[in-house]
Amino acid sequence: MKQTEEEKRVKARQRTKEWRENNLEKEKANCKRYREENKERVLQRHKEWVEKNPDRICEIAKDWRERNKEKIAEKNRKYAQREKELRDTEEYKIKNRARKALMARIKRGTLIRPFNCDICKKECVPDGHHEDYSKPFEVRWLCKECHGKKHRKRK
Ligand SMILES: [Zn+2]
Ligand SMILES: [Zn+2]
Repeated sequence: MKQTEEEKRVKARQRTKEWRENNLEKEKANCKRYREENKERVLQRHKEWVEKNPDRICEIAKDWRERNKEKIAEKNRKYAQREKELRDTEEYKIKNRARKALMARIKRGTLIRPFNCDICKKECVPDGHHEDYSKPFEVRWLCKECHGKKHRKRK
């Protein structure tokens, strides 16, 4: 008897599932690495999937929310609180203004973001790091690692 396409698909899915269950840790690490290396593609695929499966998304989200009600409430509260505190500080306002001004120029194309890091010269999409937020366009272009180090050193 010949298997129908649908049956084949179901079987294949089943096999993948079993393999995943047997290799959960490995799979997790794989997934994480894959996601990190293919951020754009993963995001795009996720977006497409979401568009094609609106009902499924609702279901999953509802289910998840149901199971994590308290956690979510707690998290939201903390997040809102922190945001509020942050936003009220003059420092945040100044930083935000500088970042926005910088991004606007990049978007308009009047300021070009280089393709490598100022410090380690690694090829990347560097962040604009402000030494002085009152000068929004004077930035050093740093990769994630170098940028992180800069900020850790300052504290
Ligand atoms: Zn760097
Ligand atoms: Zn910075």
